[in-house]
Amino acid sequence: PQPTSCLSNAAEDDISRHPCYSEEAHRFFARMHIPVAPACNIQCNYCNRKFDCVNESRPGVVSEVLTPEQAERKVKGVAAQLMQLSVVGIAGPGDPLANADKTFDTFARVRKHVPDVMLCLSTNGLTLYRHIDRIVELGINHVTITINAIDPDVGKEIYPWVFDEGVRYEGREAAALLISRQLQGVEALAKQGILVKVNSIMIPGVNDQHLVEVSKKVKELGATLHNVTPLIIAPGSQYEKDGRKAPRPRELNQLQEQLSEGGTKLMRHCRQCRADAVGLLGQDRNQDFQLETMEADP
Ligand code: SF4
Ligand code: SF4
Repeated sequence: PQPTSCLSNAAEDDISRHPCYSEEAHRFFARMHIPVAPACNIQCNYCNRKFDCVNESRPGVVSEVLTPEQAERKVKGVAAQLMQLSVVGIAGPGDPLANADKTFDTFARVRKHVPDVMLCLSTNGLTLYRHIDRIVELGINHVTITINAIDPDVGKEIYPWVFDEGVRYEGREAAALLISRQLQGVEALAKQGILVKVNSIMIPGVNDQHLVEVSKKVKELGATLHNVTPLIIAPGSQYEKDGRKAPRPRELNQLQEQLSEGGTKLMRHCRQCRADAVGLLGQDRNQDFQLETMEADP
């Protein structure tokens, strides 16, 4: 059963046009990720920074990084050709807010030149609290935060270090800082009426039992949707060395059922897209929209 909605009409409208927030919308509306954010400010044990951020994307591919100026040209080109485009998001290939200048410059350009698309941001949440005003000012309607734990003792098995304002934190202290910032971010955004989706990666033996608590907490703080995806282990990552395994589809389904029974609104159609994905979910047309080809053949 889905919980009764207490969202405004505008927020409901934003949901109904976002292919990730609405299962119905994903058949009709397209999204575009623009890869302008290469750096990251934390380390996740499932990630290898030679690939796209695993929090919102799948590893095994590296998205070519664009400058904000190139991103603007690409979005204009795609918007002119892809009528179903409703959302432009920044999800990597690192953490968008660890590249805040490039990320917000790009969003400002898109807002100015392609005003009818919704803007979407995905982040690990570490520095979110510093950017709330900017997010509101630019009219970024959707923010995804990847939260894999709310208990630092679980978190320390996922994040070996976090780097913030020139200081490197490790172990439990790193996890505690990241978690406190993430929860602060969910609450602050929800208070501003921004739609918050929380992504969690199900890591058997680490957080699989704990995600029920995560779900409960983020719902209390105002998250609209929870998206639990199976662990994908990047080649060369710590988890690969540790021999960790992805959950079986049955285990993921069981957890999703459990969360749903607890009243959480779940996303179940996530395709774990690349940081440069373009098109309807599950039909990536990135190859059709390469900047050089679009500009050579207007
Ligand atoms: Fe990798 Fe993303 Fe984690 Fe950064 S936040 S370490 S890019 S998975
Ligand atoms: Fe949507 Fe999931 Fe793709 Fe993100 S990774 S754009 S949430 S389907």
